[in-house]
Amino acid sequence: MAFIIDGKAIANKVKAEVAEGSERLVREFGEEARPNMTLIEVGSDAVSKKLVGMKANDCEMTGIVPTVIALSESTTEEKLLRLIDRLNRDDDVRAILCQLPLPEHISTKKVLAAIAPEKDVDGFSARIDSDDYDVAACTPAAVMRMLRESGVEVAGKHCVVVGRSNIVGKPMAIQLLLNDATVTVCHSKTENIAEHTRRADVLIVAVGRAHFITGDMVKEGAVVIDVGMNYIDGRPTGDVDFASVEPKVSMITPVPGGVGPMTRAGLLVNALKLAERACERNK
Ligand code: NAP
Repeated sequence: MAFIIDGKAIANKVKAEVAEGSERLVREFGEEARPNMTLIEVGSDAVSKKLVGMKANDCEMTGIVPTVIALSESTTEEKLLRLIDRLNRDDDVRAILCQLPLPEHISTKKVLAAIAPEKDVDGFSARIDSDDYDVAACTPAAVMRMLRESGVEVAGKHCVVVGRSNIVGKPMAIQLLLNDATVTVCHSKTENIAEHTRRADVLIVAVGRAHFITGDMVKEGAVVIDVGMNYIDGRPTGDVDFASVEPKVSMITPVPGGVGPMTRAGLLVNALKLAERACERNK
């Protein structure tokens, strides 16, 4: 039986660290240094609303002040960009998050690019050639922390990432490289995916297709991290077919209760770092 990596338990540990960090900042620099996060939601998608509510709640639990700005589905791209510009220029705003997905008439690329890097709590603008890389994209950072907490050393190991999106797959590959792994990245044009996934010591899956990875696609004893979050009849399901994969591997993350809670905890880590940086800049 595989060891189940408990994302919730690790996330609770991370949250306790962030809460302690928030209070340390306030002790050192006063109440105005307290981390905060402005969360923008556009439209009335039930899952997005629930996620924003959970993120705001996480903030409150860790000494970070959340502000939720809820905009209607008909909000124009121009209006949203104007709002982000105003928040970018507001010195009291330390961290900005725009909940995805956005309505189709709004360009996600433009909106994410509009958020100032020093306020980008999702870490989407993190650049590897910058010292700022510690405010990294939350999901890959979450995966790295889960691996570390589970005693998985990636250095020298063959890690296979399935998916190459800008917010998960690509930054995931970079994080692994920065930690000395040998990395293969697969995507929708990759031929014979199973030949690659079967060679993975550590397999990280971010495809967005329920049960995409099956037992015959993994190596005996591998570590499997399932980033996927799909809904079947309203129930969350990963990209990994847990039933056929779990008996073969040494460690695996569940869905729900795996990467999801850790990604949310990663946001809090980034919010604290951005607030610390703002204090350094204002010294
Ligand atoms: P995305 O932007 O849709 O990217 C999906 C990636 O999977 C793309 O690179 C795509 O390849 C690849 N892909 C699609 N079909 C494939 C196939 N048949 N074979 C091989 N590769 C295929 O999705 P994302 O934002 O990276 O998210 C991926 C999943 O993770 C989703 O389920 C999302 O909900 C979930 N997610 C979870 C968390 C969390 O906290 N748990 C956070 C973020 C995302 P191409 O590039 O060639 O199109």
